[in-house]
Amino acid sequence: MKVAFLTLGCKVNFYETERMKACFEASGHRIMSFGEQADVYIINTCTVTNIADRKSRKMLHRAKKNNPDALVVATGCYVDSSKETQAEASGIDLFVPNQEKEHILEIVEAAVQERRQAGEGGFRCEEAECGPEKEAMKENFLLSAEALKESRTRAFLKIQDGCNQFCTYCIIPYVRGPLKSRTEKEVLLEVEELAGHGVLEVVLTGIHLSSYGVDWSGKKSFLELEGRPLLDLLWKVSEVEGVERIRLGSLEPRIITEAFVQELSRIKKVCPHFHLSLQSGCDTVLKRMNRHYTSGEYLEKTELIKKYYANPALTTDIIVGFPGETEEEFWKTVDFMQKAGFSKVHVFKYSRRRGTMADAMPGQITEDIKNERSSLLMAKEKEMEIKYRKNFINKEEKILFEEIVLFENEEYLTGYNERYVRTGVKVQSREQAEKMINTIGRVFIPEQEIAAGEMLFGNLAARSR
Ligand code: SF4
Repeated sequence: MKVAFLTLGCKVNFYETERMKACFEASGHRIMSFGEQADVYIINTCTVTNIADRKSRKMLHRAKKNNPDALVVATGCYVDSSKETQAEASGIDLFVPNQEKEHILEIVEAAVQERRQAGEGGFRCEEAECGPEKEAMKENFLLSAEALKESRTRAFLKIQDGCNQFCTYCIIPYVRGPLKSRTEKEVLLEVEELAGHGVLEVVLTGIHLSSYGVDWSGKKSFLELEGRPLLDLLWKVSEVEGVERIRLGSLEPRIITEAFVQELSRIKKVCPHFHLSLQSGCDTVLKRMNRHYTSGEYLEKTELIKKYYANPALTTDIIVGFPGETEEEFWKTVDFMQKAGFSKVHVFKYSRRRGTMADAMPGQITEDIKNERSSLLMAKEKEMEIKYRKNFINKEEKILFEEIVLFENEEYLTGYNERYVRTGVKVQSREQAEKMINTIGRVFIPEQEIAAGEMLFGNLAARSR
């Protein structure tokens, strides 16, 4: 079969799509891009906001439009979020909840078989039988890195799923379920496989990464573990030959203690780039969100990181227009954001989710106010981003080159430094530039005008690998 995938939402979803692709490829199916004619379209949906829901629906319908005879499969959080989804949706042939993702190959193949027997659909199952690999499907889902090797120099690796935190605005604990951590052995096998395929950077992701290991530790909360299982895993991942960089996905601020950061800073392959979700810089809003820290405590965490890392990249998420957010509360967030000195802030407008506590809270904010607050915060964010990038002027940075892109009619070889700042070098020879993809090069960044959201421009100094 020709199978096309489309992913919406978080890094965990992206990771899971890669796993699904690996299963289908290992069974002899051909992976197509989403815009092409395929026999099966699998959309890995997201439900984190109303916009995400809308996008999920739109993409499912677009798939049907691409090929009306295709089997359109919805999986991911949108499927799990609402029982009515299945009834509401038209044009969707199959729903695969998150918990069933690891069996998606079997489920899809069975559906295709059924359709063929019923004489429906325009399938051309060119490879008549899927072969013995099918039996190893579940194993492939967890372990095979085949699909990742061609597409990425940086690979996402899910080490944990689920969340027990129940922030009042969030539907994720209901759709992803309780914590479930992968074993060290499983993770390391996958890292070795990735490294064997030449992947230089691994990004450890999860729904609540800081809770890694809580489920098999016998403890109630990640706070009792002081990050031990995560640190142990990081040490082991850093010993895998070929892995040059380890990046961490979003961390809960409360995992940051002096002991944790001190030990983390000794694992040299861990990038000095930390995403600590803030959500609000105002204590009363944080309380209503059921976030168990204050803005003061959060600031202490950022200071601890700055104590052990030079010029760390601190990134975060902020929600504006949470129920009851007053002007005064909003301005506390604006002030706090500037005080903390982030290198990048993802600003989200609060979006009501049915089934969450915040949905039933009084004082829902109008869209106009949310838009106003979001624009203001984004403007401040741009200034902060530019300010942070100025730190790299007249410095030499190590860039992991990923791709060649066209910018104002010129080709640039681009990649990221350890602090996740995108940097490009003008391509002099296409052949040489192509050879440099998936290598780490030293780039000198001269004086220049810096624009938010755009890359820095540099000159190649000397290749380090
Ligand atoms: S920590 Fe909060 S925001 Fe993050 S997934 Fe869990 S409940 Fe949702």
